[in-house]
Order: sequence, then C-alpha cells, then structure tokens
Amino acid sequence: MNRISHWIDGAVREGNSGRTAPVFNPATGEQSADVDLASDEEVDSAVATALTALPEWRATSLSRRAEVMFHMRELVDANRKEIASLLTAEHGKVMSDALGEVARGLENIEFACGVPHLLKGGYSEQAATGVDVYSIRQPLGVVAGITPFNFPAMVPMWMFANALACGNTFVLKPSEKDPSASLLMAELLAKAGLPAGCFNVVQGDKVAVDRILDHPDIAAVSFVGSTPIAKYVYERGTTAGKRVQALGGAKNHMLVLPDADLDMAADAAVSAGYGSAGERCMAVSVLVAVESIADELVGKISDRIATIKVGPGSEPDNEMGPLITGEHRDRVAGYVERASGAGAEVVVDGRDGGDGGNGDGFFLNPSLLDKVAPGMEAYDDEIFGPVLSVVRVESYDDGLELINANPYGNGVALFTRDGGVAREFQFDVNVGMVGINVPIPVPVSYYSFGGWKASLFGDNHMYGPEGINFYTRAKVVTSRWPDPRTSAVDLGFPETR
Ligand code: NAD
Repeated sequence: MNRISHWIDGAVREGNSGRTAPVFNPATGEQSADVDLASDEEVDSAVATALTALPEWRATSLSRRAEVMFHMRELVDANRKEIASLLTAEHGKVMSDALGEVARGLENIEFACGVPHLLKGGYSEQAATGVDVYSIRQPLGVVAGITPFNFPAMVPMWMFANALACGNTFVLKPSEKDPSASLLMAELLAKAGLPAGCFNVVQGDKVAVDRILDHPDIAAVSFVGSTPIAKYVYERGTTAGKRVQALGGAKNHMLVLPDADLDMAADAAVSAGYGSAGERCMAVSVLVAVESIADELVGKISDRIATIKVGPGSEPDNEMGPLITGEHRDRVAGYVERASGAGAEVVVDGRDGGDGGNGDGFFLNPSLLDKVAPGMEAYDDEIFGPVLSVVRVESYDDGLELINANPYGNGVALFTRDGGVAREFQFDVNVGMVGINVPIPVPVSYYSFGGWKASLFGDNHMYGPEGINFYTRAKVVTSRWPDPRTSAVDLGFPETR
C-alpha cells in the first residue's frame, strides 16, 4: 500500500504516530494509500522547523520572494496535468474540472508575484514640523492553513501564496481524504527556490488541527471547511490568541426571475448544481423560481440532467465524477430518499443507476427535488452532493426574503434581464459573493473570497487584498532628525501645529 507522509524541513518525513487513515480512489472504491496522521509531537516538529526558517525568509528581499513566486507560477503551469491527475485520483472530480481548479489556484500565485507592490506602505512627509510618518506591513510569523477535501490544490494556493510572499513561514494541514496534492506542491515550492522549512505539510485529523490551534508559536490560522468545524476553529484559535479566518459551509441560492432567459438559466443551474458532483462550496444548491416560470424551468433542467455523463473522472467524456466517500454518497442519497416524505417532489431520482455503471465507485447520479421549502432537511442542511432543490416563490421580494433569512451567506446568483432589479438585488442581499447572470461568482484573485453569516468566521476574507492584510500586521513609524541643540524636555502633548 502507498504511504502518504508529511513534508518537514524540505523533505518527506514518514510519520511515527502509529496512526494512519485510508485514502480511496472514489471512482473504483478501492483504497489507494494510507496517509499518516500526525501526533502533537509531529506538529510541533513542523512548527519548530517553520520558526527556525522564519528569520532568514522574513529578511529575504521582496524581489527575491517575488522571484520564488514567479518560479512557482512556471512550475505549477508546467505541472497542471500532474496536479490535476492527483485531484482526479483522490477526489474523483473529472479532469477538466481538476484542471480548472489548478487554473483558479494558479491565479493566486500570480497575484502574489506582485508582492513588492502589494506591500507598499504610506508615507507622510512633514506630518508635523520636521516629522515624517510612514506605515509598513510586516509578516506575522509562522502561520497555518487547514483545508477541506473539495479543493485539495486550489484552497492551499489561496493561502500559502500570499502568506509566503508576505514573509511568513507556513504549516499546511490538508484534508486527510485527498492529501497527495499537498506534497506535490511542497516539492514544486522547493524547486521554485523556497528555502527548506518555509513550507511544511503535516498530514492529519483533529489531533493535528487541535495542536495547531493551541500551538503558542503559530500566529494565525486560515481555515476552510464545514460550518461547525469553522466555528470551532475560530473559537479555539482566537481563544489561544491567534488571528483566525475560518470559512465555512454554504447553501447557495440562484433566483430566477420571469424575464430571465430560461434556457440560459437552466444551463447555469445544471452546471453549477452538478459540477464537481455538487461538492463545491459555491455550488448552487437551491434554485429559487418565481412561480410563473417554475414549471417550464424545472422541465428544462430535468431535460438537461438526462444528458449528463456520470463516470470516472479520468475518462475525458465524463462530466461528473463520484462523491468523495461511500459514506458521504449514502448520506447524500438519504436526503433524496426522505424528500417525498417531507413534502417535496422528486423530479429526478439520482439513486436510479446510482453507481454510474461503475461497480464499487462512490457514484450517485444527479437528483432534482421540486417544491422544497424551509423547514425541510433538504433545504435546511448543506447536502454537498448532486442534489438541486427548487423552492417556488411568488415574487422577487419573496425570493430576496428567503435568501436573506437563510443562515448561510456564501454565494448567490440572480438571473434576470432587468438591470435595475439586479442593482437592487446586489444592494439588498445579505450574501458575500453575488453573481448577476453568473451562477458561481468566485471572485478573481485580485478581489477577495468570503461569505457572510455562517459562511465565514473572522474579519478578513481569503486571498487577494484581504489575504495580504490577513498575513501582515501594520506598523507606523513616526520619525524626526532634529538638531540636538534644539532639544528640550517637554512633558505635554504638542499644542501647536
Ligand atoms: P470539514 O470541515 O470536514 O474538514 C475541513 C478540515 O477540518 C479538514 O482538514 C479536516 O481534517 C478538519 N477537521 C474535520 N473534522 C474536524 C474536527 N472535528 N476537529 C478539527 N478538525 C477537523 O470539511 P470537508 O468535508 O473537508 O469540506 C467540505 C466543507 O467545506 C463543506 O461544508 C464546504 O461548503 C466547505 N467549503 C467551504 C469553502 C468556503 O470557501 N467557504 C470552500 C471549500 C469548502
């Protein structure tokens, strides 16, 4: 059996905790590897390495740090297929989607190449007579990232690119379900010229997470995962005095108004609902249809579902792969099974032929539930699978009210041809990322990514300008170079300007 280990001080380090977890190929259901699960001592060793590497990396010139990011950009670009193949093998997503994940991650490295510009401070000459004031942003120290299974390459890149470029050293705790991409990224960073010890990977579970949250030498934690764990990470990490940004789960709504192009809306709902088997935090999981067009829209969506090709992600024609584990597949299928008993209408049941014709793989075909309403578990829970729920509303106002009453606020989309209503929507909706005729409005890397309400705990959004803020702290210097002969004792605040 393959073994997936840690990366500490510039090399693979085999675990010695005696604990491992199985890693599966979701398309076959077979175990492909054992991943080490770090002990407290192994986390401590990674943090100690990062702390040792910190002074030199922090003192490395901005232009050299940018150069390392430029090299990393070239290496990720040259290794797109290798990274994507690992994602398909362990996550299950189809290759085209995996390549898209790499591309969206790469954007963040490209953004970090501009770090000399991003870290420019302000300067006020002659703030008082003979006094200049200037601001600088300095790295925090050793920072950690804890990442989810659904984007094993992109989400780490959201974090480490800016963190390293700003002069921090980094400890990554990837998802134990698909850990291999983290090691390939560690190798590429080493090839890019990042000194040993600046980027470390500890494979692990709750034990490693808890040690990271409590570790006195870790200054900040970036987390992406489900809402209950995000809340836990935020509370425990901040209690330990750390800066924490913890991005949680989602229930993304797509509101379709009667004037929308319904074919375009149906294409978007199917793409955003079932892409990556619905295992995206920005997946559309609730279609909010104004009653007058609901029947027609549901019909167009179910027509399209019938043509989706489900199968192993490694086969180029397939559009949707398996779910991450057999347990998760069964959990998702349970929502479909119980939906009609709760009052919903099962328009398409993905459990029919649910193995995608692929034996023991963790496949579940797309499902469409109509007449879903708040209070039903299919509406209230984040299902995180290929299940799209349709909620019917009477009007735009009812749709907006529904969306704003939802406890999550990650992404939302509006489909309309009325620019005035779209503007009203973006003004009034209580959601962090809004798409106007765009179903998955993931911001480009020079903006920042973050939801509202139960989708984010903390003050800073992820990556982009807010990422730079998160991984640095401000210092303001007030300086003067007076003639010592004019010096005198003065116990007061200056009265004159
Ligand atoms: P998860 O919360 O189960 O795991 C995330 C990380 O936390 C993993 O590294 C895992 O090892 C660790 N973890 C799990 N249980 C823990 C515990 N009890 N104590 C401490 N650490 C623990 O999430 P997941 O299933 O890997 O990923 C899917 C979830 O992530 C979905 O809810 C999805 O919406 C969310 N997500 C959110 C975003 C976003 O940007 N808001 C992006 C991607 C995924």
